[in-house]
Amino acid sequence: MISARPIPMLDLTRYDEPLKRDIARRVEELFATGRFVLGPAVEAFERAFAREVGTAHAIGVSSGTDALLVSLMALGIGPGDEVITSPFSFFASAGVVARLGARPVFVDIDPATFNLDASRLEGAISPRTRAIQPVYLYGQCADMEAILEIAVARKVSLLEDACQAVGATHQGRPAGSMGQLGAFSFYPTKNLGAAGDAGAVTTNDDRLAETLRSLRVHGSIETYRHDRVGGNFRLDALQAAVLLAKLPRLAAWNNRRRAIAGRYGELLAGASGEGRLRLPKEADGNHHVYHQYIVRVPARDAVRARLAKDAISTAVFYPVPLHLQECFRGLGYREGSFPEAERAASEVLALPVFPELTDEEVERVAASLLAALP
Ligand SMILES: *Cc1c(COP(=O)(O)O)cnc(C)c1O
Repeated sequence: MISARPIPMLDLTRYDEPLKRDIARRVEELFATGRFVLGPAVEAFERAFAREVGTAHAIGVSSGTDALLVSLMALGIGPGDEVITSPFSFFASAGVVARLGARPVFVDIDPATFNLDASRLEGAISPRTRAIQPVYLYGQCADMEAILEIAVARKVSLLEDACQAVGATHQGRPAGSMGQLGAFSFYPTKNLGAAGDAGAVTTNDDRLAETLRSLRVHGSIETYRHDRVGGNFRLDALQAAVLLAKLPRLAAWNNRRRAIAGRYGELLAGASGEGRLRLPKEADGNHHVYHQYIVRVPARDAVRARLAKDAISTAVFYPVPLHLQECFRGLGYREGSFPEAERAASEVLALPVFPELTDEEVERVAASLLAALP
């Protein structure tokens, strides 16, 4: 048998020539100015990104993790406070809460969207709850109408973890524009990826924006005067230059991801059914940007091994829910605390999806998956 060309989960070397040229031009411009820390490149990206998300402000920061961290710092969250988030996410969503000495409080997920189940939210709110931090997992917004209503009624802040959902919308409202604060990651594998670590916070609140700008430079507003303790959470100008070249292409890339998801849907529909294969669902009112294309297969690990034999890469995001992580043992959760998150962790399988993936590759992945299903 002739071995087929491997299909990767993601290939960050498939840059087209026009993009390469735009990046090179932006980087050359930056070197011509010599302004490598904050300065015009960062400011230009912040303006462009705020326009993209439709908020008054975007503050460039060092990573998605730091976008979440400085957001919680700007809200004044610390020891004794509780922040409600999803147990089924990348570690940072809860890690940042714990780093500030606050307590992550988890709420189980909706098995159809993998996002925080809004109908369980009220039950998790206590007098110590300071913020709700929904995660827009895999590229679609959580049930924000319901979550916003609860946040407003209970007077708690809302921080959107939009790290996987740049360009997504809910009822026409962009991810990152619905809460007090929105956190974005430009980690290279995200839908808008830098050439290293980078992130941003979006907000319509002038006072929070000023606090965030100060927090990212050690809490100073004027050089050598510190009103609060911050850190070095700045977005690199070099990353801003790369992001400026890429941002105008984001919508087209997200549309290509949606087209690939649509094609997977057509090719796999015949095999879908409870207990065998479940396809991802775009919730009503959502514009999903498919950061990941996730299927549920109860026989996941065997199916994954079969795909690997066909040289097809897949991934599992995430195999261990956050409430079962060793470092959060002290929170008092145990196996069975969040059955939907636990079941998702054992069933989810990510198929390759990225704008440069070819139609032929999509067809090969689907054919191989169909052959691998029990
Ligand atoms: C990627 C990601 C983060 C962290 O972003 P980094 O840029 O890697 O620090 C946080 N939350 C979610 C949901 C993510 O996917």
